[in-house]
Parts: sequence; C-alpha cells; structure tokens
Amino acid sequence: MVKMAWQSNPLTVERHTENGKRKTENKMAVPKKKTSKARTAQRRAHDAVAVMPAATCKKCGEKTRPHHVCASCGTYGGKQVVSK
Ligand SMILES: [Zn+2]
Repeated sequence: MVKMAWQSNPLTVERHTENGKRKTENKMAVPKKKTSKARTAQRRAHDAVAVMPAATCKKCGEKTRPHHVCASCGTYGGKQVVSK
C-alpha cells in the first residue's frame, strides 16, 4: 500500500523550529522497532492459565476449591456453615 503525504503517523506532530526547519516530534512513546513474532511468542510463553489445585472435603470427600465452602455438603473446615 502506498502511503500518501497527508497520511502521516498520527502519533507524531510536525513543528517549525526557530531556524525555519520542520521537525517531527512524537506525541507519545513510539516503539523504534516492530515486535517480531518470536518476541511476542516468548512474552506469551508464561500467559497460560494454571490449573487450580483441588482440595478434598473432609466430610463428604468431594473435590472443592481450597479455602472455600464445600458446594455439595456446605461445610468449611469440618463445620457446617451452610444448611443443605
Ligand atoms: Zn463436602
């Protein structure tokens, strides 16, 4: 695709300096280089969601989330906290 002169980078602003020269300044931080596919893949290597460790209910033996009330019998730490 051919880029026209009026299609300038929206992240840059063009100014005229005191000596009459045009100067392009960045409005914000602009990356100098394109992030390669390998770089992106390396960054995302640690983005996988980990499997939650499962705890077993002391009363009914059902698998529960740790530090949470058992969904099947309503106990927490061996005590009945939710009536079922
Ligand atoms: Zn239970």
